[in-house]
Amino acid sequence: MRRVLVTGAGSGIGRAVARAFAGAGEAVTIAGRQIEALRETDGGRGMTCRVADVTDEAAVAALFDAPFDVVIANAGSGEAGKLGDTSLETWNRTLAVNLTGTFLTFRAAIAGMGAGGRLIAMASTASLKGGAGLAAYSAAKHGVLGLVRSVALEVAKSGITCNAVCPGFVDTPLAERAIAGVEARLGVDADTARARISAANPLGRLIRPEEVVAAVVFLASPGASMVNGQALGVTGGEI
Ligand code: NAD
Repeated sequence: MRRVLVTGAGSGIGRAVARAFAGAGEAVTIAGRQIEALRETDGGRGMTCRVADVTDEAAVAALFDAPFDVVIANAGSGEAGKLGDTSLETWNRTLAVNLTGTFLTFRAAIAGMGAGGRLIAMASTASLKGGAGLAAYSAAKHGVLGLVRSVALEVAKSGITCNAVCPGFVDTPLAERAIAGVEARLGVDADTARARISAANPLGRLIRPEEVVAAVVFLASPGASMVNGQALGVTGGEI
Protein backbone atom coordinates (compact mmCIF):
# COMPACT_ATOMS: atom_id res chain seq x y z
CA MET A 1 0.00 0.00 0.00
CA ARG A 2 1.46 3.37 -1.04
CA ARG A 3 1.03 6.63 0.84
CA VAL A 4 -0.63 9.16 -1.47
CA LEU A 5 -1.15 12.89 -0.86
CA VAL A 6 -3.64 14.94 -2.88
CA THR A 7 -3.88 18.70 -2.30
CA GLY A 8 -7.00 20.71 -3.10
CA ALA A 9 -9.00 17.51 -2.68
CA GLY A 10 -12.21 19.06 -1.34
CA SER A 11 -13.80 19.23 -4.79
CA GLY A 12 -13.46 18.62 -8.51
CA ILE A 13 -10.44 16.82 -9.94
CA GLY A 14 -8.71 16.43 -6.58
CA ARG A 15 -11.77 14.73 -5.09
CA ALA A 16 -12.00 12.31 -8.04
CA VAL A 17 -8.26 11.55 -7.90
CA ALA A 18 -8.33 10.92 -4.15
CA ARG A 19 -11.32 8.59 -4.41
CA ALA A 20 -9.65 6.63 -7.22
CA PHE A 21 -6.49 6.02 -5.19
CA ALA A 22 -8.50 5.15 -2.08
CA GLY A 23 -10.60 2.75 -4.17
CA ALA A 24 -7.38 1.08 -5.33
CA GLY A 25 -6.46 0.39 -1.71
CA GLU A 26 -3.79 3.10 -1.29
CA ALA A 27 -3.41 5.04 1.98
CA VAL A 28 -4.68 8.46 0.93
CA THR A 29 -4.20 11.77 2.72
CA ILE A 30 -6.25 14.68 1.41
CA ALA A 31 -5.43 18.30 2.09
CA GLY A 32 -7.44 21.46 1.61
CA ARG A 33 -8.69 24.57 3.36
CA GLN A 34 -12.09 23.31 4.49
CA ILE A 35 -12.46 20.22 6.65
CA GLU A 36 -16.15 19.73 5.72
CA ALA A 37 -15.29 19.51 2.02
CA LEU A 38 -12.48 17.05 2.75
CA ARG A 39 -14.82 14.87 4.84
CA GLU A 40 -17.29 14.86 1.96
CA THR A 41 -14.52 13.71 -0.39
CA ASP A 42 -13.67 10.93 2.03
CA GLY A 43 -17.27 9.84 2.53
CA GLY A 44 -16.23 6.95 4.77
CA ARG A 45 -13.41 5.69 2.51
CA GLY A 46 -10.82 5.90 5.27
CA MET A 47 -8.80 8.83 3.96
CA THR A 48 -6.85 11.05 6.33
CA CYS A 49 -8.17 14.63 6.14
CA ARG A 50 -5.69 17.45 6.83
CA VAL A 51 -6.47 21.16 6.74
CA ALA A 52 -3.70 23.02 4.91
CA ASP A 53 -3.49 26.06 2.70
CA VAL A 54 -0.84 25.23 0.09
CA THR A 55 0.44 28.82 0.11
CA ASP A 56 1.38 28.47 3.80
CA GLU A 57 4.91 27.08 4.10
CA ALA A 58 4.50 25.77 7.65
CA ALA A 59 1.11 24.19 6.93
CA VAL A 60 2.50 22.36 3.90
CA ALA A 61 5.59 21.20 5.81
CA ALA A 62 3.32 19.84 8.56
CA LEU A 63 1.63 17.49 6.07
CA PHE A 64 4.89 15.57 5.68
CA ASP A 65 5.26 14.08 9.15
CA ALA A 66 6.00 10.86 7.25
CA PRO A 67 7.12 10.56 3.60
CA PHE A 68 4.62 10.02 0.79
CA ASP A 69 5.15 7.74 -2.22
CA VAL A 70 2.84 9.69 -4.53
CA VAL A 71 2.26 13.44 -4.22
CA ILE A 72 -0.32 15.18 -6.38
CA ALA A 73 -0.10 18.98 -6.25
CA ASN A 74 -3.61 19.64 -7.44
CA ALA A 75 -4.74 22.76 -5.54
CA GLY A 76 -5.24 25.68 -7.87
CA SER A 77 -7.54 28.42 -8.95
CA GLY A 78 -7.76 31.15 -11.50
CA GLU A 79 -9.93 33.97 -12.62
CA ALA A 80 -10.29 35.49 -16.04
CA GLY A 81 -9.22 39.07 -16.57
CA LYS A 82 -7.35 41.06 -19.16
CA LEU A 83 -3.87 42.17 -18.20
CA GLY A 84 -4.90 45.80 -17.79
CA ASP A 85 -7.65 44.77 -15.37
CA THR A 86 -5.47 42.40 -13.34
CA SER A 87 -4.68 43.82 -9.92
CA LEU A 88 -1.40 43.03 -8.21
CA GLU A 89 -3.45 41.24 -5.55
CA THR A 90 -5.06 38.92 -8.13
CA TRP A 91 -1.68 38.32 -9.78
CA ASN A 92 -0.02 37.47 -6.46
CA ARG A 93 -2.91 35.26 -5.34
CA THR A 94 -2.91 33.33 -8.62
CA LEU A 95 0.83 32.70 -8.54
CA ALA A 96 0.71 31.84 -4.84
CA VAL A 97 -1.82 29.02 -5.09
CA ASN A 98 -0.86 27.54 -8.45
CA LEU A 99 2.92 28.02 -8.59
CA THR A 100 4.20 28.64 -5.07
CA GLY A 101 1.79 26.02 -3.73
CA THR A 102 3.27 23.41 -6.10
CA PHE A 103 6.81 24.53 -5.20
CA LEU A 104 6.15 24.20 -1.46
CA THR A 105 4.42 20.83 -1.89
CA PHE A 106 7.13 19.28 -4.07
CA ARG A 107 9.99 20.70 -2.00
CA ALA A 108 8.55 19.14 1.14
CA ALA A 109 7.78 15.89 -0.73
CA ILE A 110 11.25 15.17 -2.11
CA ALA A 111 12.90 15.40 1.31
CA GLY A 112 11.78 11.91 2.34
CA MET A 113 10.63 10.37 -0.94
CA GLY A 114 12.21 7.07 -1.91
CA ALA A 115 12.81 5.29 -5.22
CA GLY A 116 9.58 4.78 -7.13
CA GLY A 117 8.25 8.09 -5.83
CA ARG A 118 5.90 10.10 -8.01
CA LEU A 119 5.44 13.88 -8.11
CA ILE A 120 2.47 14.95 -10.21
CA ALA A 121 1.36 18.55 -10.79
CA MET A 122 -2.11 19.49 -11.97
CA ALA A 123 -1.12 21.93 -14.69
CA SER A 124 -3.36 22.93 -17.62
CA THR A 125 -3.59 23.64 -21.30
CA ALA A 126 -2.82 27.13 -19.93
CA SER A 127 0.68 25.71 -19.27
CA LEU A 128 1.08 25.10 -23.00
CA LYS A 129 -0.53 28.13 -24.63
CA GLY A 130 -1.56 31.64 -23.75
CA GLY A 131 -5.12 32.85 -23.59
CA ALA A 132 -6.59 36.33 -23.93
CA GLY A 133 -7.86 37.28 -20.48
CA LEU A 134 -5.80 34.55 -18.81
CA ALA A 135 -2.43 36.23 -18.25
CA ALA A 136 -2.06 35.54 -14.53
CA TYR A 137 -3.39 31.96 -14.61
CA SER A 138 -1.44 31.08 -17.74
CA ALA A 139 1.77 32.61 -16.37
CA ALA A 140 1.33 30.60 -13.17
CA LYS A 141 0.58 27.35 -15.00
CA HIS A 142 3.50 27.87 -17.43
CA GLY A 143 5.60 28.31 -14.29
CA VAL A 144 4.32 25.00 -12.93
CA LEU A 145 5.57 23.26 -16.07
CA GLY A 146 8.99 24.90 -15.77
CA LEU A 147 9.16 23.71 -12.18
CA VAL A 148 8.12 20.16 -13.17
CA ARG A 149 10.68 19.93 -15.98
CA SER A 150 13.51 21.10 -13.73
CA VAL A 151 12.57 18.95 -10.73
CA ALA A 152 12.30 15.95 -13.07
CA LEU A 153 15.99 16.31 -13.92
CA GLU A 154 16.96 16.75 -10.27
CA VAL A 155 15.18 13.62 -9.02
CA ALA A 156 15.76 11.30 -12.01
CA LYS A 157 18.71 9.41 -10.52
CA SER A 158 16.75 8.80 -7.29
CA GLY A 159 14.15 6.75 -9.17
CA ILE A 160 11.53 9.43 -8.69
CA THR A 161 9.55 10.97 -11.55
CA CYS A 162 7.98 14.41 -11.80
CA ASN A 163 5.31 15.10 -14.39
CA ALA A 164 2.44 17.45 -15.19
CA VAL A 165 -1.10 16.67 -16.28
CA CYS A 166 -2.47 19.36 -18.59
CA PRO A 167 -6.25 19.20 -18.93
CA GLY A 168 -8.46 21.41 -21.04
CA PHE A 169 -11.80 22.50 -19.55
CA VAL A 170 -12.92 19.89 -17.00
CA ASP A 171 -16.46 19.75 -15.63
CA THR A 172 -15.72 20.93 -12.06
CA PRO A 173 -16.61 23.92 -9.86
CA LEU A 174 -13.68 25.77 -11.51
CA ALA A 175 -15.26 25.34 -14.94
CA GLU A 176 -18.64 26.40 -13.50
CA ARG A 177 -17.01 29.64 -12.34
CA ALA A 178 -15.50 30.13 -15.81
CA ILE A 179 -18.92 29.58 -17.39
CA ALA A 180 -20.48 32.12 -15.03
CA GLY A 181 -17.74 34.55 -16.02
CA VAL A 182 -18.50 34.10 -19.73
CA GLU A 183 -22.20 34.64 -18.97
CA ALA A 184 -21.44 37.90 -17.21
CA ARG A 185 -18.88 39.20 -19.71
CA LEU A 186 -20.84 38.36 -22.87
CA GLY A 187 -24.35 38.81 -21.46
CA VAL A 188 -25.38 35.31 -22.60
CA ASP A 189 -27.31 32.58 -20.78
CA ALA A 190 -25.65 29.64 -19.01
CA ASP A 191 -26.30 27.15 -21.84
CA THR A 192 -24.73 29.47 -24.41
CA ALA A 193 -21.74 30.10 -22.17
CA ARG A 194 -21.29 26.36 -21.56
CA ALA A 195 -21.57 25.65 -25.29
CA ARG A 196 -18.90 28.26 -26.02
CA ILE A 197 -16.49 26.72 -23.57
CA SER A 198 -17.30 23.19 -24.72
CA ALA A 199 -16.58 24.18 -28.31
CA ALA A 200 -12.92 24.74 -27.42
CA ASN A 201 -12.59 20.96 -27.09
CA PRO A 202 -12.48 18.98 -30.38
CA LEU A 203 -14.94 16.48 -28.84
CA GLY A 204 -17.35 19.38 -28.24
CA ARG A 205 -17.82 18.67 -24.55
CA LEU A 206 -16.19 19.34 -21.21
CA ILE A 207 -13.70 16.77 -19.96
CA ARG A 208 -14.92 14.52 -17.13
CA PRO A 209 -12.87 14.45 -13.92
CA GLU A 210 -12.46 10.65 -14.33
CA GLU A 211 -10.70 11.28 -17.64
CA VAL A 212 -8.08 13.31 -15.78
CA VAL A 213 -7.88 10.67 -13.06
CA ALA A 214 -6.83 8.08 -15.66
CA ALA A 215 -3.81 10.19 -16.63
CA VAL A 216 -2.80 10.68 -12.99
CA VAL A 217 -3.13 6.97 -12.24
CA PHE A 218 -0.94 6.17 -15.24
CA LEU A 219 1.79 8.62 -14.21
CA ALA A 220 1.69 7.22 -10.67
CA SER A 221 1.98 3.61 -11.87
CA PRO A 222 5.21 1.59 -11.65
CA GLY A 223 5.06 1.15 -15.44
CA ALA A 224 5.53 4.89 -15.94
CA SER A 225 9.03 4.80 -14.43
CA MET A 226 10.64 6.17 -17.63
CA VAL A 227 8.04 8.93 -18.13
CA ASN A 228 9.67 11.96 -16.55
CA GLY A 229 9.43 15.71 -17.03
CA GLN A 230 6.41 15.39 -19.30
CA ALA A 231 3.32 17.51 -19.84
CA LEU A 232 0.56 14.98 -20.44
CA GLY A 233 -2.31 16.70 -22.23
CA VAL A 234 -5.85 15.56 -21.43
CA THR A 235 -7.45 17.76 -24.02
CA GLY A 236 -9.36 15.72 -26.59
CA GLY A 237 -6.79 17.01 -29.06
CA GLU A 238 -7.22 20.72 -28.35
CA ILE A 239 -3.42 20.94 -28.28
P1 NAD B 1 -11.90 23.14 -8.04
O1 NAD B 1 -12.06 24.58 -7.76
O2 NAD B 1 -13.04 22.22 -7.86
O3 NAD B 1 -10.69 22.52 -7.17
C1 NAD B 1 -9.59 23.25 -6.72
C2 NAD B 1 -9.41 22.91 -5.27
O4 NAD B 1 -8.23 23.57 -4.77
C3 NAD B 1 -10.58 23.40 -4.42
O5 NAD B 1 -11.01 22.36 -3.56
C4 NAD B 1 -10.01 24.56 -3.65
O6 NAD B 1 -10.61 24.77 -2.39
C5 NAD B 1 -8.56 24.13 -3.52
N1 NAD B 1 -7.69 25.24 -3.22
C6 NAD B 1 -7.68 26.46 -3.80
N2 NAD B 1 -6.77 27.24 -3.22
C7 NAD B 1 -6.18 26.48 -2.25
C8 NAD B 1 -5.16 26.72 -1.31
N3 NAD B 1 -4.56 27.91 -1.23
N4 NAD B 1 -4.78 25.71 -0.49
C9 NAD B 1 -5.39 24.51 -0.57
N5 NAD B 1 -6.37 24.24 -1.42
C10 NAD B 1 -6.76 25.21 -2.26
O7 NAD B 1 -11.34 23.04 -9.52
P2 NAD B 1 -10.68 21.82 -10.32
O8 NAD B 1 -11.07 22.01 -11.70
O9 NAD B 1 -10.91 20.53 -9.65
O10 NAD B 1 -9.14 22.22 -10.20
C11 NAD B 1 -8.12 21.33 -9.78
C12 NAD B 1 -6.84 21.68 -10.48
O11 NAD B 1 -7.00 21.45 -11.88
C13 NAD B 1 -6.42 23.14 -10.35
O12 NAD B 1 -5.02 23.23 -10.19
C14 NAD B 1 -6.84 23.75 -11.67
O13 NAD B 1 -6.07 24.89 -11.99
C15 NAD B 1 -6.56 22.58 -12.58
N6 NAD B 1 -7.26 22.62 -13.87
C16 NAD B 1 -8.63 22.70 -13.91
C17 NAD B 1 -9.26 22.75 -15.15
C18 NAD B 1 -10.77 22.84 -15.30
O14 NAD B 1 -11.24 23.19 -16.38
N7 NAD B 1 -11.55 22.54 -14.30
C19 NAD B 1 -8.50 22.70 -16.32
C20 NAD B 1 -7.11 22.63 -16.22
C21 NAD B 1 -6.51 22.57 -14.99
